[in-house]
Amino acid sequence: MKSLSRWALLWITVFFFWEIVVCGQLRPAADLIITNAKVWTVDSELPNAQAVAVLGGRIVAVGSNAEIDAWRGPSTHVIDAGGKLLLPGFNDAHVHFVSGGRQLDAVDLNDATSPEEFVRRIAEQAKKTPKNEWITGGDWDETKWSLAKLPTKELIDAVTPNNPVLINRYDGHMSLANSIALRLAGVTASTPDPPGGTIVRDDKGNPTGALKDAAMDYVLKVIPPLSHDQRLHAVQRALGHAASLGVTSVQDMNPEYADIAIYSELLDRGQLTTRIYAAPLITQVDDLVKIGVRRAFGSSFLRIGALKGYADGSLGSGTAYFFQPFNDQPGNRGLLSDEMHPISLMRDRMMKADAAGLQLCTHAIGDAGISAILDIYSEIEKTHGKADRRWRIEHAQHMAAKDFDRFAQLGVVASVQPYHAVDDGRWAEGRIGRDRASRTYAFRTFLNEGVRLAFGTDWNVAPLNPMLTLYAATTRATLDGKNPGGWFPEQKLPIAEAVQAYTMGSAHAEFQETDKGSITVGKLADMVLLSDDIFSIDPTKIREVKVLRTIVGGKTVWNATSEEGK
Ligand SMILES: [Zn+2]
Repeated sequence: MKSLSRWALLWITVFFFWEIVVCGQLRPAADLIITNAKVWTVDSELPNAQAVAVLGGRIVAVGSNAEIDAWRGPSTHVIDAGGKLLLPGFNDAHVHFVSGGRQLDAVDLNDATSPEEFVRRIAEQAKKTPKNEWITGGDWDETKWSLAKLPTKELIDAVTPNNPVLINRYDGHMSLANSIALRLAGVTASTPDPPGGTIVRDDKGNPTGALKDAAMDYVLKVIPPLSHDQRLHAVQRALGHAASLGVTSVQDMNPEYADIAIYSELLDRGQLTTRIYAAPLITQVDDLVKIGVRRAFGSSFLRIGALKGYADGSLGSGTAYFFQPFNDQPGNRGLLSDEMHPISLMRDRMMKADAAGLQLCTHAIGDAGISAILDIYSEIEKTHGKADRRWRIEHAQHMAAKDFDRFAQLGVVASVQPYHAVDDGRWAEGRIGRDRASRTYAFRTFLNEGVRLAFGTDWNVAPLNPMLTLYAATTRATLDGKNPGGWFPEQKLPIAEAVQAYTMGSAHAEFQETDKGSITVGKLADMVLLSDDIFSIDPTKIREVKVLRTIVGGKTVWNATSEEGK
């Protein structure tokens, strides 16, 4: 009798606690519940679910509608996802955020398909621009003209009589200046080419207005810096754009300090709606070393501690640095950047950065440029020992066959932009031939070799829209429609791996994989609800998919139904 009642007591106790746990009587109510969704978590422990509960900006439960409903309280906000696909927010591993925000209001020359249209748009912008104010931006691409020829100052001087002009090629490695801008910069026939740069000249040696890489600095130096208000406006435009596209985190490459100051100001006001990891130029390494911050230092919304370097230029500008000359320009192997003159300058800066615990993100496009950076990375590892550094190579565009293995051994992250593949894929083979092109944006080979991928766009060089990136990675269908089955189709990725690279891959690349990258209990509540299921539709349709809602830290920062009429 005695023992029986003891058993009964025990069972009553167990039942009582079970009630509390399951019915949630001791559990705080969620701030937000997203229910009736098709949740793709990017977490292999629980890949699919129906609903998510959020409390204090973090995910507190993932499960079935019924399980998550137990988190509902009187003041819980409930979003019925209507069966739509819910993903972790996209983390763009490589953007130029302020340039992107500026571009939203600047002259757009990217899809001008003739010199006449190019001139017409510049004339229009000049009419809107106050006298003496600079006209910048543009993102022109002369390869889209029927006769691909570099533009000259003569083309635009007549329509820009009152404004200095410095408009950039879409890849950022060349710009066109008008005569006023060249005069202000003091660039004449007798100005020498700077190291790592070229002043394009006519037969008589006069500058044509086109300036490659370091030569752009002559003019950039005389452009007044953005005012506080111009910069603030650009960041606000960029934040709005990111939210509308489901981009909840960005890794901002070579921002100015003044940009970071604006992010900080907006964070203080509670208006930073995209999480930002800022990587200033490695030329400023001494500043970060002096402050003493290490990689990924800061809050969940704003962090610093990485440095961005440049090894070389770009394929389009003929300045990516290769072991062999360009097929269409015998004698030209491209250019190492001015930061690499001499290479020991870059090595010393990187050594210093690494000793201080800073992360390195290095732009390298040509096979020899990539190789040179891998050489420096291995030298650092030999000198300072092995560690979890997550070095990155930004773009990693044209790989030498011998370097995949080294890339993996050093644990280097390939921070890649699939949209560039379907863009450059239109003409890359003409520049570098079939063999080198076969190792271009080699996403499949990277994964097979054990290299981690982080996806991004390089916005404003390419569109920020993640759907275009996913479309590009899964189809490799070039923009000219000439490769519907995929340009080097063996390098296509299935959608699940592409999403993984855009979420967990990018989170890993910024040391945030325990806080971001999947819909997992304990992580930040950054999520995106899509109009269509990108896992079941035809990949060619992915580029048409829209973002219905973007959630950052449990707060809706974009809602298509309430925003679209604006
Ligand atoms: Zn970039």
